[in-house]
Amino acid sequence: MNHEVVVVGGGIGGLTVAALLAERGVDVCLVERESRVGGCVASFEKFGYSFEPGYGLYSGWQPDEIHDRVFSELPVEAPQVHLLEPAYQVRLPDQSEIAISGDTQQFEEGLRRNFPECVDFAVAFYRKLADLSAVLRRELQRAPDFLSASTPRRTYNLLREGRIGAEIIKVARQSTFQHLGGASPRFRRFIDVQLQALAQGTSTEVNYLLAALALSAPGEGIFGIQGAASRLADILAQSIKRSGGRIRLNTPALRLSYDSSGTPRGVDLLSGETVIVSKAIISNLTLWDTYGKLIGLNRTPTEIRRQLSRLRSWGAYLLYLGIDEDTAASLASDHLLVLSDWQEDQEYDPETRQLMIAVAPSWDPRAPSGKRAVTVHFFTDVEGWFTFHKDETELEQRDQQMLELCWKRLHAAMPELGSAIEIIDTANPRTFYDLTRRKLGMVGGFIPSGDRFWLNEPSYSTSLANVFAVGDTTQPGGIAALTRSALVLANRLTAR
Ligand SMILES: Cc1cc2nc3c(=O)[nH]c(=O)nc-3n(C[C@H](O)[C@H](O)[C@H](O)COP(=O)(O)OP(=O)(O)OC[C@H]3O[C@@H](n4cnc5c(N)ncnc54)[C@H](O)[C@@H]3O)c2cc1C
Repeated sequence: MNHEVVVVGGGIGGLTVAALLAERGVDVCLVERESRVGGCVASFEKFGYSFEPGYGLYSGWQPDEIHDRVFSELPVEAPQVHLLEPAYQVRLPDQSEIAISGDTQQFEEGLRRNFPECVDFAVAFYRKLADLSAVLRRELQRAPDFLSASTPRRTYNLLREGRIGAEIIKVARQSTFQHLGGASPRFRRFIDVQLQALAQGTSTEVNYLLAALALSAPGEGIFGIQGAASRLADILAQSIKRSGGRIRLNTPALRLSYDSSGTPRGVDLLSGETVIVSKAIISNLTLWDTYGKLIGLNRTPTEIRRQLSRLRSWGAYLLYLGIDEDTAASLASDHLLVLSDWQEDQEYDPETRQLMIAVAPSWDPRAPSGKRAVTVHFFTDVEGWFTFHKDETELEQRDQQMLELCWKRLHAAMPELGSAIEIIDTANPRTFYDLTRRKLGMVGGFIPSGDRFWLNEPSYSTSLANVFAVGDTTQPGGIAALTRSALVLANRLTAR
């Protein structure tokens, strides 16, 4: 089989770039090892429930924003989305609750009520984030590749934005923590728990400008997707086919195929077949697997190997639950982010102290009549899930222990759930590994580093000229950022 471009992996990143390329007339083939597309967002179905593995909080769906821009090119309708108001609610260990609302006045009232000890600081902190993020979003809207633009181009654009633009240049290497000097320990933890959920790291780990984008997103609008994010994946797959592209399911890629000069010429499939390409190979695998599996470690430059060995992601432990509709309707928000311990005088540990409850919305219950599907997310360190197990029973025991612990933590955090919830199933890093083959089942992108915001080179670059990467380990920021990086890559390959 010969194609201009082959995309390995049918996660949101791979699907989006393939859909754009196919509609722009490129002969593209996407290979996916599973029997369906979606990767991390593929819904889990059981007993009449359809569970969304993610939180169900999606940005970039406003008119003229990134999804609008991508779908305006595609021959399919975008999925239906609904604005979530509030986007989510944060519950702190002293039971104070703050609605993260898009209504600034209401949100600031919440800050004043809940953080009397540092109210002026808290309001000013969020206002500054909103100013910074408004400029960054405007620049990203003008030029989706803004984060990897050359320093002179970036500087010129930002200086045009005046005082805030100049401030962005100044703080680009600073961590969020450096801007929390006037915060009370309570307010700092309020920021930590959100950054951990939205950006995979705490205030010391997450860059200040990245925090501005993440924490200001509710002010711009957070949306739920009708049919969950797996619907987005299915629509992108339809788009690829409608534009003449090809999708091959149940087709695991093994490695790149090289010609005698060492240039990649295609992809060897597990079946023994080789797909030959004339233009480009796009990996939608994590960077570890792009190099470790596709390119091959023996062809990976030492410096890249060193960098990859230092990078880590978290694993996820999920409870898939059913909840009675009446109880679900009485909750203040469908999304509740809970911090259960202040963790004073110690490093923030997300593993045992925070959880996110995501209830399917009333407009899309994804459940048998009178019920709604719920996903509860806990961070978990992946190593323990992959230590040697004599047999499957040992793994089941580990899952059972984790389930009991998480079940207790859930009820302690939300006693109002009482007996209105039932367990349908669980997911752990082994499940994610089986579903997506991501190294050690690590999901959600890298644990960030506080001093990094600009990209030195485009996020799609690899060490090989005709091999590109798109995925959440190349670009942090959830599905909106992933979609933006897919657009940037499609533009690069079609010279737009
Ligand atoms: C718990 C959780 C909550 C989240 N919540 C949100 C949220 O609320 N909002 C948001 O925007 N984002 C959220 N995210 C992030 C988002 O879901 C992911 O970052 C995104 O889906 C990852 O997409 P990807 O394109 O990187 O590819 P992946 O989803 O990793 O897909 C890669 C694909 O490649 C396939 N593959 C692997 N190996 C091979 C091979 N050898 N040959 C062929 N195919 C192969 C896999 O089967 C898979 O389909 C969440 C993530 C997690 C884990």
